[in-house]
Amino acid sequence: MKRFITILLLFVAFQISAQTDAENLKKIYSNSLTNGMSYQWLDHLSNQIGGRLSGSLNAEKAVQYTKEEFEKLGLDKVWLQPVMVPRWVRGAPEFAYIETSPGVTTNVNICALGGSVATPNGGVKAKIIEVKTYKDLEALGVEKIRGKIVFINRPMQADLINTFEAYGGCSVERYAGAAEAAKYGAVGTIVRSLNLRLDDYPHTGSMGYGDLPLSQRIPSAAISTNDAELLSGMLALNKNLNFFFSQNCKQLPDVQSYNVIGEITGSEFPNEIIVVGGHLDSWDLGDGSHDDGAGVVQSMDVLRLLKESGIRPKRTIRAVLFMNEENGLRGGRKYAEVAKQKNENHVFALESDSGGFTPRGFSFQCNEAMLAKIQGWRSLFKPYLIHYFEEGYSGADISPLKDDTIVLAGLRPDSQRYFDHHHASNDTFEHVNKRELELGAASMTALIYLIDKYGTQTISNTEELRD
Ligand SMILES: [Zn+2]
Repeated sequence: MKRFITILLLFVAFQISAQTDAENLKKIYSNSLTNGMSYQWLDHLSNQIGGRLSGSLNAEKAVQYTKEEFEKLGLDKVWLQPVMVPRWVRGAPEFAYIETSPGVTTNVNICALGGSVATPNGGVKAKIIEVKTYKDLEALGVEKIRGKIVFINRPMQADLINTFEAYGGCSVERYAGAAEAAKYGAVGTIVRSLNLRLDDYPHTGSMGYGDLPLSQRIPSAAISTNDAELLSGMLALNKNLNFFFSQNCKQLPDVQSYNVIGEITGSEFPNEIIVVGGHLDSWDLGDGSHDDGAGVVQSMDVLRLLKESGIRPKRTIRAVLFMNEENGLRGGRKYAEVAKQKNENHVFALESDSGGFTPRGFSFQCNEAMLAKIQGWRSLFKPYLIHYFEEGYSGADISPLKDDTIVLAGLRPDSQRYFDHHHASNDTFEHVNKRELELGAASMTALIYLIDKYGTQTISNTEELRD
């Protein structure tokens, strides 16, 4: 009988707890959709500040702005965490054309890849040779490549539902293409933009030369998908085309910058830290609204929505706006380094860096028991059409925190339109939908609320109910 009463009491307690959770999630979503701040903050970041490349004046303005906004929220702590960042500048707009015969030219849209060296003054003009992937270079050999521009024309795989997988499949061409082509004597590389759509926007992104000496580094640019098709079509008719491009980008000395951090200190377990974040820097072509202004303002709103919804977290919740994800990851590394020095106990980290589109759910890097525990919360998210709770990638900025115990997660919005804008001049504010952005902020807050309440230990439900 006593056992029966205990079970009954536990059942009632579970029901009450579940009801409270459902009510709290309702409050969080309502608050985000009716008086959220994420869209307003994004408007300022995008339209008043603009693109925030590491080391730029705009990046500095974004640091100051977000710090001030954190301060207005009445958090327990707000601080700047110093980090030295690389400073690469694009310089004057790039210029490129295809030359079919002397004086007969067709202009094409290119942009320098982040980290690339400039072309010689006055640009570089050479025969151009097309490959599908840098792996084709070996078969061609030095004979066929020396003195030419290499055109890497690898389209993203269109039949993958998760477009990030398609991106992952091709991003090595952009990153390492120039370094590989230089080994065979190429004088430049032109890489097809990582965009599933055919349009006229070139998409930038980071590239590197590895240990290639300075004297052997060759300039690298991305070409729009339309112009990649055009160039490929023209090469099919005439292999003797000349290609010209000029760019005068530069790598300047490192500069001082900051991660911006706001914290609500935990009421019961202040030493257990939960991080939610995105990256404050962006590429320079657009205003970085999707990548990653959205993740920044959503992370900021997580702290505000918890407060607005009357939730006092037991654990410490930190919103971290990481600097320099795009061309160095210095902010993410610095945060993890300082956390380690201070012997801080990070139990959970969530990153939003996949655009401000309709949230579908989250992917997790954790053990099976923890994933099962999180999947047990699915019914709470059902009213908000959030259903995706699977194992998978979390985020670049939080990955340096990885150890045996921390649970890492990434917000997973719908990814179909993301690469239309990613790293291009059309990554701008008008392409972010207010409600989609707010639903993302609410979903992140809801997950943080549940993680804070139930912890990341995978112990029995009985234990959890005592929380
Ligand atoms: Zn990003």
